[in-house]
Amino acid sequence: MSLLVVGSVAFDAIETPFGREDRTLGGAATYFAIAASHFTKVNLVAIVGEDFNSEHESVFHGRAVDLAGLERAPGKTFFWSGKYHDNLNDRTTLATDLNVFAKFKPRLPETFRSSKFVFLANIDPTLQLSVLKQITVRPKLAALDTMNYWIERTPDELRETLRHTDLLMINDSETRQLSNEHNLLRAAKHIFKLGPRTLVIKRGEHGAMMVHNQWVFSVPSFPLEEIHDPTGAGDTFAGGFMGYLATAGRVNGDTLRRAMVYGSVLGSFAVEKFGLKRLLTLKRSEITNRVRHFHKLTSFKL
Ligand code: AMP
Repeated sequence: MSLLVVGSVAFDAIETPFGREDRTLGGAATYFAIAASHFTKVNLVAIVGEDFNSEHESVFHGRAVDLAGLERAPGKTFFWSGKYHDNLNDRTTLATDLNVFAKFKPRLPETFRSSKFVFLANIDPTLQLSVLKQITVRPKLAALDTMNYWIERTPDELRETLRHTDLLMINDSETRQLSNEHNLLRAAKHIFKLGPRTLVIKRGEHGAMMVHNQWVFSVPSFPLEEIHDPTGAGDTFAGGFMGYLATAGRVNGDTLRRAMVYGSVLGSFAVEKFGLKRLLTLKRSEITNRVRHFHKLTSFKL
């Protein structure tokens, strides 16, 4: 089934204890679309500037990504810069230059308006809502990601957008910040009052937890000997999660649990190399092998 994503296509400057990149293609929607395209066709809605050329665009070519919603505007593409601490779990944002995103008014191509699965990647909540309002038939699942930048700067707009979403996918510190609750289960109860019925909490090397009003499900992160760059792991997780759900076509306890595994597996590939590098060579057979491995890793006899 059709899957739509709106979010950033960006240039990133990244520094980790393993090296640095001064300008590499990134952005939440880029990571998401490349991950999800292993499962289904992805309708991408984003904006780029004049510095985004055909070589940059080529990362989407040969993949199931429809670029009809990728707008080009005068000015520079969104730019983000971050530096990771030695533990790789914490990072400091050094720059967020919205550039062409500051004036973006997303207009969905007609063919995108009936998308059944929608992912509102981390971007201004007002833009997220404007995309949701252009969807003509109620989607099976509308999911949203956000971050401290928007929780602090646009809290009212974020609350209004949350009222229209089914699933919230954020990390543990964002969960605590949004709910003012330290305990994640109590935080989930608070967040359910804001709109979403399901909360997926991404916890970096500690895996991910899904809280639904009747049950909780956890997955570990896939054990890796070397992690070079965590950038985009969350968006890649989201791409695996939503991509799997869109192919399954149904949203229930079983498909949501399997989506958590696909999310965790896709995220584990993203961190193996800098930026998008590992994802660009990833094959479907490698995903399947790692999912099987994941099954062994997490099953036991009772
Ligand atoms: P993640 O590591 O999953 O949080 O995602 C990192 C990606 O998100 C980078 O490629 C950035 O370009 C993008 N990003 C960072 N901050 C923002 C923001 N405020 N709005 C939209 N995208 C962002």
